[in-house]
Amino acid sequence: MNNIERQTSYAAGEDTIAAIATGRAAGGIAIIRISGDRALSIVDEIFRGPDAPLSKVPANTIHYGHILDIDEVLVSVFRAPHSYTTEDTVEINCHGGLYAADRVLSACIEAGARPAEPGEFTKRAYLSGRIDLSEAEAVADIISSDNEFSLKNSEKTLSGRLSREIDEYRQRIIYECGFIESALDDPEHFSLEGFGNRLLSECKEWIGGLSKLSASFQDGKILKDGIDTVIVGKPNVGKSSILNLLSNSDRAIVTDVPGTTRDLIEERVRVGELTLNLIDSAGIRSTDDVVEAIGVEKSLEKMKDADLVLFVCDRSRPLDENDKKIAASLSGKKFLVLLNKSDAEAVISVEDVQALFQKNAGQLPVSSSSLSENAAESDFAAKSRKDSMKIIDFSARSADGMQELQEALKALFLSNGGQKRSDGEVLLTNARHKYEIDSAVRSLTLVMKSIESGLPEDFYTVDLMDAYSALGRILGKEVGDDLVEEIFSKFCIGK
Ligand code: GDP
Repeated sequence: MNNIERQTSYAAGEDTIAAIATGRAAGGIAIIRISGDRALSIVDEIFRGPDAPLSKVPANTIHYGHILDIDEVLVSVFRAPHSYTTEDTVEINCHGGLYAADRVLSACIEAGARPAEPGEFTKRAYLSGRIDLSEAEAVADIISSDNEFSLKNSEKTLSGRLSREIDEYRQRIIYECGFIESALDDPEHFSLEGFGNRLLSECKEWIGGLSKLSASFQDGKILKDGIDTVIVGKPNVGKSSILNLLSNSDRAIVTDVPGTTRDLIEERVRVGELTLNLIDSAGIRSTDDVVEAIGVEKSLEKMKDADLVLFVCDRSRPLDENDKKIAASLSGKKFLVLLNKSDAEAVISVEDVQALFQKNAGQLPVSSSSLSENAAESDFAAKSRKDSMKIIDFSARSADGMQELQEALKALFLSNGGQKRSDGEVLLTNARHKYEIDSAVRSLTLVMKSIESGLPEDFYTVDLMDAYSALGRILGKEVGDDLVEEIFSKFCIGK
């Protein structure tokens, strides 16, 4: 469906909607948003103030007054089409706290507005053609953003950077389809001589660009959703202290008694540019204690699903069988070793920790670096060292090693190792967008195959049009009502 069709179908069912736009929480002010043809006349029925009636005031103005005898308010007036929804819109700023806001909303509804569905204001902006579907999705992403990347990237998407990029590919694809049609209809004026080669190089370029965009999903997802991280280590190595340092809180109880952290604690923390979804776990050790055993079981379980394991070793105590057991269970995982308590007197060295991952680690417990000297490395050890093994001297007490941890995380999880990206670059964070881009790449690959097999030009058009449609669906073109409903149902009320 194109924008004009969207507008027509939308105009048929319009009415005036109202909702509290500031969420259901206590705060200084609350905003009730009313949008639709009758927004101004509805508010006029309940607004008392020197500037009443509001239907006579200019657009983009704010007016002092009261809503009945409920509350003292400031009312902003926006007129179609220059509003968020493109409709006449009024925003009533009343005192925060749910009671006042609820009463103002009820007054609007009694005066003729309908309670808005989740996301209905943004849906109206989409249906009226002011924003496309990817931009509407970016609004939801901005609302749910909880880190700098997520906010900035969603803002870029909302400003149309992704849409423009996608639209440019679509224009170029449709141009080639049009050319083929014209040439087949009117061979005298449009020659297909050399066309295959030209289209081949175009396809190559499009596939390259789209594949790059698709690959950015990996980084985009990590930056937006965070890295599921589990902190493991035997009791008393400093896991809870590290969790507290990273989260700047005292949520985990820190004591000298081994095995204090009996249950799993989850926390979303920022480490530089990246977010870790941290799970602290009970210390892994052989134990008869049932509660501790459940914790150990859970943390081993969590380790399986985690994107990253932070393996904490204690520099001030000898390594033992527990450390060896943990090291062995890290096979195939992305992990970093935090050699904690670097501020205390060292009993073990980095080499001792490296030795944990070597074939003859069965000789543990170790208390000096002698073990590492003649140790033959297992495949796993060699691979770990090459791919992901990084031992960081760390101190939960003095915060030493934080910078190195940040760098190590970027190197491990971001394809560009965390180098600064250009301001214009948008990363994909939406699985729906990635799916459609991948589907466009597949169709364009088929076009290339057709050209290379010497098939006639009209064969290209089918796959070119498939790519064109897949990219269009990102922008909300040719998408079914059910998908639109599904996307907007995830919004909050009042947006
Ligand atoms: P967990 O059982 O692994 O969670 O260990 P805790 O975080 O409870 O810490 C155990 C003990 O080690 C506590 O007394 C902490 O104060 C101490 N500790 C933790 N990190 C450090 C550190 O970096 N340096 C020193 N000197 N002590 C630490």
